[in-house]
Amino acid sequence: MLNFELYNPTNLIFGKGQIEKLATLVPKDAKILLAYGGGSIFKNGIHEQVRKSLEGFDVIEFGGIEANPHFETLMKAVAIIREQKIDFILAVGGGSVIDGVKFLSAAANFEGNPIDILKKRILFRDVSKVVPFGTVLTLPATGSEMNSGSVITIETTQEKLDFGGSALFPKFSICDPTVIASLPKRQLQNGVVDAYTHVLEQYLTYPHEGYLQDRIAESILQTLIQVGPAVVENPTDYALASNFMWSCTMALNGLIQKGVPSDWATHMIGHELTALYGIDHARTLAVVGPNLYRVMFETKKGKLAQYGKRIFNLTGSDDEIANEAINKTVEFFHTMGMQTKLSDYTKDFEKTADFIVTRFEQRGWKALGEKQNITLEKIQSIVEMSY
Ligand code: NAP
Ligand code: FE
Repeated sequence: MLNFELYNPTNLIFGKGQIEKLATLVPKDAKILLAYGGGSIFKNGIHEQVRKSLEGFDVIEFGGIEANPHFETLMKAVAIIREQKIDFILAVGGGSVIDGVKFLSAAANFEGNPIDILKKRILFRDVSKVVPFGTVLTLPATGSEMNSGSVITIETTQEKLDFGGSALFPKFSICDPTVIASLPKRQLQNGVVDAYTHVLEQYLTYPHEGYLQDRIAESILQTLIQVGPAVVENPTDYALASNFMWSCTMALNGLIQKGVPSDWATHMIGHELTALYGIDHARTLAVVGPNLYRVMFETKKGKLAQYGKRIFNLTGSDDEIANEAINKTVEFFHTMGMQTKLSDYTKDFEKTADFIVTRFEQRGWKALGEKQNITLEKIQSIVEMSY
């Protein structure tokens, strides 16, 4: 097992009715910026619950953070934080609002041009340099409520770039599984597939000796397979909703990543597809992931075989099981309402591989993956295979 440090300071408050605890979680005399997305929180009553528990606090609101949050929109909030001397930010939303708030937290006191946070992938380790923030999660998927990473889109250049650092963990996150009742089917499906792929990015890496991490990862995959299709049909079923929400958090709160190498190439390539075509994040992962496993078969087949045996009870030779495990993954994505070809989403796909590879080259990215062996040539094949 690789050496590791486990640091996760987020106070996670999970369960029904927990939004009421907000008043005890935000600092007493803080001037708060409440950040939210396109307005779903007004329709499903979450805004009302939040404001009720924050009665008596000094709160300014900033709405309009879009899915795949834009740098350009967020810079308007940065100006407000600076002008109004905001000292605590509350994100009320899904991964996009929470990621957006991580950017606000980092950018507000940043000396220099905040675009460099993204372009130069600045690492934030010093909590005294960021504005503290908490979250009320409204969409289980990303794990952003309990991790320190963020992905932001620069609209003008159609780039989607990640950054983060240990200073950017939420102080607290309230996860009330009943909030998912108002989620459209498409977002529920996205949540399951995003979380499932988060696990695969940390699990289908080889070789490693994280036996316990493997077993935890497998249990998250099994739970998502168990509850995923059902929760899409019955989001008001509390057993389904709570297990779905907790699985999504556990998939990317750092725990299963400890002591093992992780891949993340599916995400890096997927981000390009969202930046270029606006395809939902999870759907890009369903397009890229299986083709990445096919192209990187020799590197990943040992782990794919373990995955096939333990998750899908497959039998046969390791090569057969590994191949079939990829097919089973695609089948699961289809069950979850995903289309798995780029041509299902855009007619404009033919030059995509060339474009992505040129872009990675310009950024100086020579290879991706846990072994840094997903070369630009391989990336070209993965994207072409997805057409
Ligand atoms: P999202 O983009 O935050 O939200 C998608 C849509 O769902 C929005 O239109 C939102 O509407 C709506 N919505 C949210 N909660 C709702 C509710 N309770 N009821 C009804 N509608 C609701 O989706 P997401 O999948 O959570 O986040 C995706 C982003 O996270 C991507 O940019 C992705 O790259 C990033 N990501 C981050 C990490 C990380 O670790 N930081 C990991 C994976 C992905 P409103 O805007 O109106 O609220
Ligand atoms: Fe993701």
